[in-house]
Amino acid sequence: MNSDIADMDRGALWPAMVDSAYVRELQTFADDHIVPHAANIDKHDVYPVDILKKMARGGYNNVTLPRQYGGQGLSYTHGAAVFEEVGAASAAVGISLITIYQAQNMINLFGLETLKQRYLPAFGQGLLSSYALTEASHGSDIRKLDTKAQLQGQEWVIQGEKHFITSATAAELFIILAETDVGVSVFAIPRDTPGLSMYEGSNSATFGLRNGPHMNVRLDAVRVPADHLIGQEGKGVRQAVTVLNYSRTLAAAISLGIARAAFEGALTFARDRVAFDQRVLNFQGIQWYFSDMLTDIDGARVLTYHAARALDADDQIARWGSEAKLKASAVATQVASQCAQICGAYGIMENAPFGRYLRDAKAYEVAGGSSEILKNTIGKALMPIAGIRPNAKVSA
Ligand SMILES: Cc1cc2nc3c(=O)[nH]c(=O)nc-3n(C[C@H](O)[C@H](O)[C@H](O)COP(=O)(O)OP(=O)(O)OC[C@H]3O[C@@H](n4cnc5c(N)ncnc54)[C@H](O)[C@@H]3O)c2cc1C
Repeated sequence: MNSDIADMDRGALWPAMVDSAYVRELQTFADDHIVPHAANIDKHDVYPVDILKKMARGGYNNVTLPRQYGGQGLSYTHGAAVFEEVGAASAAVGISLITIYQAQNMINLFGLETLKQRYLPAFGQGLLSSYALTEASHGSDIRKLDTKAQLQGQEWVIQGEKHFITSATAAELFIILAETDVGVSVFAIPRDTPGLSMYEGSNSATFGLRNGPHMNVRLDAVRVPADHLIGQEGKGVRQAVTVLNYSRTLAAAISLGIARAAFEGALTFARDRVAFDQRVLNFQGIQWYFSDMLTDIDGARVLTYHAARALDADDQIARWGSEAKLKASAVATQVASQCAQICGAYGIMENAPFGRYLRDAKAYEVAGGSSEILKNTIGKALMPIAGIRPNAKVSA
């Protein structure tokens, strides 16, 4: 469906937000290597290993990682462009890439040098990873966890179970949160560590973002060396949220991609479909739908790329990342639904892509930080600007 827009001016529709040659190259990669497989990845709910390995060879799996660790050393604006184009081709490939960036960001921002040397260069060679915070009884609230870690000699011993773990079917490295004596902490665990296993639970299959079942990962007396604790013991929640602040901007870019793909598909349809002796696109009622959608997508794009620049400048990243994801995910859901409507029965058919767009867009209103939690974060960022402490009591 994406390629149908080729005879329209895609560059005019979505002006490049970074160097346009870089974006054109990305679009060619996505058109050639991702778009043809998107429907099947979704239908069969499989992790697209070959595509992610190919993307690593193209330099897309470590765009923002410093060059000293084998990364491309580019800006988060370039990063957002990668996620937008990949998201337009397949949101399932997009979320596969997100869990790679989450793991490398956690190690790069907080890991010991030994850990950085060991794992970061491998992302350029296609290392696949998962980011495991959630448990059966702990989703949005990860301040307490049932997964426990204890230092025994020179090793951490970890026991517990993680749920909803995206990319786990293929991940070669897991970043997991576990509680130690002093609070929630973060650990790196290679897949082949004895005691790590996984199973498909009753909650593993989702209706959207289907890059393989979101597995339950068991940690049964798993042992890792002392330096596999990432950052400071007890500071895991702060670290995990910092990493989420980065990935929320990238998730917003995926949502933009979904919205764009739906828009392009519906625009092509409305241009070519005839009713009452004219093109459907000629009806003013239909044009108004497109006008509203284009305005919403453009607004969300400006916000998302602002959030990407804020990451580069380290400026209010919690606020901008949350605003971007909140807006872009809502716009994507609304646009996907509207576009299905514009295409009439063709929009509702199983072999049309609009159902996938709608399911992926909706899933991203929950995954990686629900819209309610994002609103809490934005509200919290507002308090110091307004000159007050959150939850401060006011005496009568
Ligand atoms: C497709 C998909 C992929 C996922 N991948 C991963 C993954 O790779 N790794 C991982 O660790 N987890 C993953 N998750 C889990 C995801 O992070 C959680 O679903 C999410 O954090 C919400 O937690 P919960 O589902 O337990 O909802 P709860 O925390 O139980 O919340 C239930 C409802 O209450 C709302 N709510 C909760 N707290 C508040 C509050 N303080 N104020 C207002 N509203 C509130 C929520 O927004 C939600 O609407 C994934 C989820 C999905 C759907």
